[in-house]
Amino acid sequence: MRERILEVLEKYDLDKISIATLGSHSALNILKGAKDEGFKSVCICRNEEDKIYKLFGVADEIIYVNDFKDLLKERVQEKLWNLNAILIPHGSFNAYIGRFERLIVPIFGNRILMEWETVRENQEKWLRMAGVKMPESFNSVEEIDRLVIVKFPGARGGKGYFLASTPEEFRRKADDLLKKGLIDEKDFENVFIQEYVAGVNVYFSFFYSKVFNRVELISIDRRYESNADGIGRIPAKIQTSLDISPSYTVVGNFPIVLRESMLNKVIEAAEKVYEVSKDIAYPGMVGPFCLESVIDEKGEIYFFEISARIVAGTNTGIPTSPYSYILFGENMYMGRRIAREIKLGIKKGVLEDMIY
Ligand code: AMP
Repeated sequence: MRERILEVLEKYDLDKISIATLGSHSALNILKGAKDEGFKSVCICRNEEDKIYKLFGVADEIIYVNDFKDLLKERVQEKLWNLNAILIPHGSFNAYIGRFERLIVPIFGNRILMEWETVRENQEKWLRMAGVKMPESFNSVEEIDRLVIVKFPGARGGKGYFLASTPEEFRRKADDLLKKGLIDEKDFENVFIQEYVAGVNVYFSFFYSKVFNRVELISIDRRYESNADGIGRIPAKIQTSLDISPSYTVVGNFPIVLRESMLNKVIEAAEKVYEVSKDIAYPGMVGPFCLESVIDEKGEIYFFEISARIVAGTNTGIPTSPYSYILFGENMYMGRRIAREIKLGIKKGVLEDMIY
């Protein structure tokens, strides 16, 4: 597979490389970054979703598709080859494309890791191998002995999650969701029960640079989740009578700067996660990845998820985050950081080491 992709890359005109992505998630970020670094930018848009990419002027070229899955069609891949395109995957690739095996267009990053992390148990394994602190997970409903968060498979943006503190409460709430048709029996086969950490969410976005051989902290954000973040606006008395449970549908993100004394621990965790990634899928992480955490009142950082690609929270870091500014001395954000790495890769003749 990789040989076929490298064959494609070999035929590319390196003076005319373009950067392409699907029009959603963090496409504004990626395409603007491409342009800031002097690349041609290509947006693969679903019909009638081109408005924002046109309005913001980030796409030099638009390829129209009926469905994001059409990216796998020969017609679209051929267009991308002709544009000497390198694809930048984001969350919508996981949600709409799933497996990359029929995608013969060079992708910046490690596609094996990207596929691997879509399974929650794999993420848990990865974090465990890295030896970072994690919320505890429970193998069966009967084991529930504290407040837990119940998660269902697939990228649902936190929809249908619920909290429970006993097996009885779990069953009652699960029955209720089943009745409402929000989940089905099959979802229970892969239900994930995890200790609920009372604290604040902090999401760290890193970049592993092949060129500089280091893990960089690019930005930090938190999510704005409905209605977990809105529930506090309703007085407690009314909350109880309404019987509302928090849900975690992501609506947006806020930028964060972390208390400086905590940063060391975070970088250490990211470096361990990077080290382990080499054992999971050689050569390990390439480019953006994100660690999702909850930090409790003692300052303990519990990591509960990994994304092996750009996350939408990095959109808060445009045109720069304090961290990427300090590191680069200029405006730097994830989309631009990716394009910069590709540019340096071309210059130093190591582009193929970034395409897996
Ligand atoms: P996830 O789909 O795993 O990203 O979770 C969605 C949201 O649920 C997160 O953004 C957090 O707000 C919350 N969450 C997930 N896991 C935990 C946990 N173990 N403790 C506390 N909150 C959590």
